[in-house]
Amino acid sequence: MSDVHAPQAGAEGTPDPGTGATPAPGFPGVEPPDGPRVVSTEGDRGDGIVRCERCGASDASLNVATGMLRCNFCRHEWRTENALASFDLDGAIGDLRGVVVGSGTAAVTADPAVTLKCTACGAEVVIEAGVQARCHWCRNTLSLTEQVPNGAVPDMVLPFSVTKADAVTRVAEFVGKRKFFAHRQFKAEFSPENVLGVYLPYMVVDVNTRARLTGEGEHQTRSYTVQVRNAKGETHSERRYDADVYDVRRTFDLHVDDLTVESSTERLDRDTSRTSNNVINTILPFDVENSVRYDPRYLQGFTSERRDVDVDGLRGAVHQQVRDIARWRADETIGFYDRGVRWDTTDLDVQGERWVSAYLPVWLYSYLQTRKDGSTLLHYVAVNGRTGETMGSVPLNWPRLLAVSAVVEAVGAVAAAVLWVLS
Ligand SMILES: [Zn+2]
Ligand SMILES: [Zn+2]
Repeated sequence: MSDVHAPQAGAEGTPDPGTGATPAPGFPGVEPPDGPRVVSTEGDRGDGIVRCERCGASDASLNVATGMLRCNFCRHEWRTENALASFDLDGAIGDLRGVVVGSGTAAVTADPAVTLKCTACGAEVVIEAGVQARCHWCRNTLSLTEQVPNGAVPDMVLPFSVTKADAVTRVAEFVGKRKFFAHRQFKAEFSPENVLGVYLPYMVVDVNTRARLTGEGEHQTRSYTVQVRNAKGETHSERRYDADVYDVRRTFDLHVDDLTVESSTERLDRDTSRTSNNVINTILPFDVENSVRYDPRYLQGFTSERRDVDVDGLRGAVHQQVRDIARWRADETIGFYDRGVRWDTTDLDVQGERWVSAYLPVWLYSYLQTRKDGSTLLHYVAVNGRTGETMGSVPLNWPRLLAVSAVVEAVGAVAAAVLWVLS
């Protein structure tokens, strides 16, 4: 979601023939003005065992139906604090200055494993950061509540609210609608109950920027028909138009709220010959504002994927998306140029930005297709774990698809011929 302030009144908001666009000073490009200010999102329970406040058990997990954590012994349920509000990471975007980051955006390190000392029995247990482990001696559940600065523990988590049963139904419906064209083997092996709940790593970014666009716009002044004679001496009529050409400039404040970008290189891999990962982006958006403070117990029963890209590695992609948003918003102000505007430059003067790392919930049904040449292609049907939005790719039965499109084309050719006769 983005929210834009009206373009400034004055020359820049109105057609301004003849004025050359001189770039104003003070537009340093995309470099953020200050170094990052880190907001700690660490938990305050450092003992590694988080206990139920009613019975003292250490084993709890998400109840998807209520969105609350539930003690697995006494069934007591409680709600976790909203992350952005409790860490004061939701202040007005217009007030953002410099770079503010949650401590969960720390640079990722190669080895995320952490050794915890079980406070109940003293045993040392190695856990993959970000998830829980059961002490194999006393069977207490150990949770990584202290944020080790290895980037593995996110600032916040958006709990699943779509149940597995619901996800299975949606995957089955999605594939059912495409069954006619689906690959035979895929159909034979299709078992939607194998859908897996995965928390995927994202960065949630707010940007307070000034955007400045320059380009050229055309406004039509006259249109008329002329008779044109060709080499053979035949005449036909042609439609002509006159237009005025303007330098067009727009400068405005742009507040981008909760831009969500994937922060796993594997998911960022856009090579569609090997994976169909980009379907994950088509199930956006998530209601990230409802994320809660990270608590590893939300992950129990689900899998999670580790973030492996840092803020600096994603900033370029984020600013590119912000420039795209700036052009869309600028396009809303160019009605006068009825023959369009070609934007030549889009500059950002970033006043402030805020980065928070999050785990977002996705139900995934994956299928590894082995093609005739031995290469493999990973297909997904993904269900947004909050909204139920479902998208995916299904291996196709090409001969059948081509046969049908040939028929459609033939019908299309006939329809076109009929239209031509009628006109
Ligand atoms: Zn309990
Ligand atoms: Zn123990």
